[in-house]
Amino acid sequence: MPDSNFAERSEEQMSGAKVIAQALKTQDVEYIFGIVGIPVTEIAIAAQQLGIKYIGMRNEQAACYAASAIGYLTGRPGVCLVVSGPGLIHALGGMANANMNCWPLLVIGGSSERNQETMGAFQEFPQVEACRLYTKFSARPSSIEAIPFVIEKVQYLRAVRTSIYGRPGACYVDIPADFVNLQVNVNSIKYMECCMSPPISMAETSAVRMAASVIRNAKQPLLIIGKGAAYAHAEENIKKLVEQYKLPFLPTPMGKGVVPDNHPNCVGAARSRALQFADVIVLFGARLNWILHFGLPPRYQPDVKFIQVDICAEELGNNLKPAVTLLGDISAVSKQLLEELDKTSWEYPPESKWWKTLREKMKSNEAASKELASKKSLPMNYYTVFYHVQEQLPRDCFVVSEGANTMDIGRTVLQNYLPRHRLDAGTFGTMGVGLGFAIAAAMVAKDRSPEQRVICVEGDSAFGFSGMEVETICRYNLPIILLVVNNNGIYQGFDMNTWKETLKFRDPTAVVPPMCLLPNSHYEQVMTAFGGKGYFVETPEELQKSLRQSLADTTKPSLINIMIEPQATRKAQDFHWLTRSNM
Ligand code: ADP
Ligand code: MG
Repeated sequence: MPDSNFAERSEEQMSGAKVIAQALKTQDVEYIFGIVGIPVTEIAIAAQQLGIKYIGMRNEQAACYAASAIGYLTGRPGVCLVVSGPGLIHALGGMANANMNCWPLLVIGGSSERNQETMGAFQEFPQVEACRLYTKFSARPSSIEAIPFVIEKVQYLRAVRTSIYGRPGACYVDIPADFVNLQVNVNSIKYMECCMSPPISMAETSAVRMAASVIRNAKQPLLIIGKGAAYAHAEENIKKLVEQYKLPFLPTPMGKGVVPDNHPNCVGAARSRALQFADVIVLFGARLNWILHFGLPPRYQPDVKFIQVDICAEELGNNLKPAVTLLGDISAVSKQLLEELDKTSWEYPPESKWWKTLREKMKSNEAASKELASKKSLPMNYYTVFYHVQEQLPRDCFVVSEGANTMDIGRTVLQNYLPRHRLDAGTFGTMGVGLGFAIAAAMVAKDRSPEQRVICVEGDSAFGFSGMEVETICRYNLPIILLVVNNNGIYQGFDMNTWKETLKFRDPTAVVPPMCLLPNSHYEQVMTAFGGKGYFVETPEELQKSLRQSLADTTKPSLINIMIEPQATRKAQDFHWLTRSNM
């Protein structure tokens, strides 16, 4: 809390860096991820002195991904602290990703001195303007005294509040270099109170009544649980809706775990069937974008009735006209729905034809993937790998994942039992998020329990985007197990013999397929280089053993480099990289 005695000690001076750090502390900022340099080093040090955890990363992009994941996991913005010009530009990817995912984030960027503006100052760049496209709010305080206000001011400038109120998103505050070392009279600074959690909004009663009636009259109902439901902490109410009214549900990728994946009403294994034939769909915090095939035929019935629940009014009615719109916080609205449905003794008949169809489809899909998983041939395929991982996956672990098939197939096999425990490439389909997300999840895990682990499942290509963050993981000794599912490429690669053929050509750049990476790369050595444990595995037995050892050893992070069939895709499709079918 700000020192209320400041007023009496009126002559006391304080550096701009300390004012900024105190403003962040006052807003309950717990974590700052960043890379220091001119002019932000002093801010990081001042923040540490106030007890804010500072995590130094190796690339601003990863730092920004980490800070945004903190926002999603905790409901308060994580801070990303970057230097001017290129540092800020590297962070733009993280801002865009946070905004696309509707996650709170606060980026603080140092910038060049004000009196050198337009003169070609060191790393000079129009930062406030650059961030505008990727944020809900982007501003530079008019003076150092204004900083506490920009971080949270009731009437106008308001980064923390804007990041968490309404639809959450990214915010940017620019700090010119001359602010950082400026000495200011402590008397002239007034810190704003900590911004409270957003007020909870409820849907109109008449709309709730209408939604309940549409649900009761549904022949083939389906609940879709998105990451908005996870963010809203709506797990208890949604689980009640599922169980009390015997409704089938489908989680989106990051909606996994709001209701556990192994719940008997989870129809994830019959996803396409459920979407295609549902006649009423209740959408809890998921947009009808590419992830849900826009809500349109042929993936849906042309006359399917959507009941759309979202906190963002502008989202309602995107791409199609919903039967009912419920504007409000999902946790509150799902409670309203429960209360309304409770007024009669209705439940969806568990012996309906719809349930039967879904169960049959689930059974056959599960059998098909088990069949693939049981293949004894080497190198292993994705399914074999994920079935062995799933067997040992701790119930409460965070699962972070990115890659193409690695993420898609992993999603269907690896189960989540807790809400907000799955992080992946998300709405923006961003590659490179994995290690930053894993580091953020590990920080949260560490604060909760010494046992909780983060399992980060990376494609070999995805791992390359932020591989040097392994040093960060080792520096802070984070409870992370990295799995690199290695098929020597992007979507697919060459085996060693085929690869050697390409090297016979005088100019390999003309013949090496764009998706190929160096075969049999020993990514585990990136981990051992920094003192963690590394494993190179080629068989199910080696995989099982290395997983067991990694889970048992809580003293060190580890990386298991898992060699799989380089051409192992879901379906054999020649030149599929030239189409969009691999999406
Ligand atoms: P998914 O990736 O799971 O499909 P999306 O990111 O597409 O999810 O959608 C999440 C939606 O959740 C966004 O439209 C966002 O406005 C909404 N949302 C976020 N927080 C809340 C909340 N507390 N209550 C209601 N809706 C929310
Ligand atoms: Mg790959």
